Amino acid sequence: MAGVNGNQVVEWLGTQREAMLALLEEVVNLDSGSYDKAGVDAVGERFRRFFSERGIATTMHPNDGFGDCLKATVGASGGSNKPIVLMGHRDTVFPKGEAGRRPFRIEGGRAYGPGVADMKAGLVMNAFVLAAYQMFGGAPAPLVGLFTGDEEIGSPTSRALIEETARGARAVLNAEPGRPSGNVVTGRKGGVFMRFEVFGKAAHSGGNFKEGISAIGELAHKIVALHAITDLDRGTTVNVGLVAGGQSVNTTAPHAEGQIDLRYVTPQDRADAMARIEAIVGTATIPGTTARLEIKGEFKPLVQDPESRALFEAYQAASRAIGRPVEGEFTGGCADSGFTASVGCPTLCATGPVGGKGHTPDEYMEIDTLVPRAQAVALTIARLA
Ligand SMILES: [Zn+2]
Repeated sequence: MAGVNGNQVVEWLGTQREAMLALLEEVVNLDSGSYDKAGVDAVGERFRRFFSERGIATTMHPNDGFGDCLKATVGASGGSNKPIVLMGHRDTVFPKGEAGRRPFRIEGGRAYGPGVADMKAGLVMNAFVLAAYQMFGGAPAPLVGLFTGDEEIGSPTSRALIEETARGARAVLNAEPGRPSGNVVTGRKGGVFMRFEVFGKAAHSGGNFKEGISAIGELAHKIVALHAITDLDRGTTVNVGLVAGGQSVNTTAPHAEGQIDLRYVTPQDRADAMARIEAIVGTATIPGTTARLEIKGEFKPLVQDPESRALFEAYQAASRAIGRPVEGEFTGGCADSGFTASVGCPTLCATGPVGGKGHTPDEYMEIDTLVPRAQAVALTIARLA
C-alpha cells in the first residue's frame, strides 16, 4: 500500500494545479451541448491530444448521431488485469454559443463557465491521474479513461460501451462533480421516462354528445391514479410532466397523451411501480377508451452492494489520508454510474472536483478541490491493489 508521502503520483499531482486549470479553461471554452456532435468531438480531440503527447494509447469509438467515445489506457505495473475505469462525459446541457457569451473565468476561488463542474473539471482530473500513472507507473491494474459524449440525454449511444467496459472491470470511479458538501455519491435513483396515449371517439359535443368518448377524461383519471403511486418514504415518485390532447373545444377528444417520469431506489421498487403503471394505463375507467404505454428512455439506479461499499471505504480512507475527509450521499439524480453498478461493477460516483448549481448559469467549481480530488482518486487506485 502506498503512503501519501513518497507516492510520486500524489506528489506530482500536487504540482499540477495551474496546468489543470489551463486545460480546464480550454475545454470549457469549447461548446459541447449533447446535440452538438462537432463540439463534443472537439473536446474529445483535445483530450486525445493530451494523451498522445504523454504516450498514452487511445481509441476512438465513433457514433453517428452524438459525440464519439474516447478510451485512454495506461498499463499496469503488475497485479490484476481487470481495469480500473475513470469515467466521465464531455457533453453539457448548454446550447451552442454559450461559451462565447460567458467564457471560463475565475472569481473568489471559484471557476465558472458552461460545464465547468458538470463535468469538465472531472475530465481534466481523470486525465491528469492517467498522466501521472503513465509517468511514474505503479498502477495495480490497467487504468482506462472513458470519455463519453451523450450522458445528459441518457447516454443513448454510449450506454452499450459503458456497460461492456464495466462488465470486465475491477471498479468504476465516475468523476461527476463532488457535492457542495464535498461528499461523494454512493447511491442514485433509477429513472424511467415513458409516454402513454389514450384513444377515445370524436363526436360533436353539442349536437351528438352521447356518441363521444373522451380521451381527455380518461387521461385525467389515469393521471390522478399514476400520481398516487408516489411513495416518498420508499423513494418512489411518479410525475406526469407533459400532457397534450383534444381536437377542438366542441369535440369529445379522440386522443390524448401524457409523459411520465418514474424515479425509484431499487430494482424491486421499479418492478412494483411499473406493474402498477401498466395496470393503470391498461384499465379503462371510461368505457370504450383504450391506451398504450411506451418506454422512451431509462437510467439504472446506483445501488450500493458490499463491493461498492468497500470501494467507497477505500476512497474515504484515501481522502482522509490527504486531509479531506468525505462521506457518501444519496441523490435522486441519475447518471452513467447507474449503468456500471447495474452490471455488477463496484462503482463510486461524484469523485470529481467539488461544484454546484449545475445546469444553470451560476454553475461553479471550487478551485481548491481540483488537486486534492485528483490525489484522492490516485491514492484510491494505489489502494485497490
Ligand atoms: Zn454530469
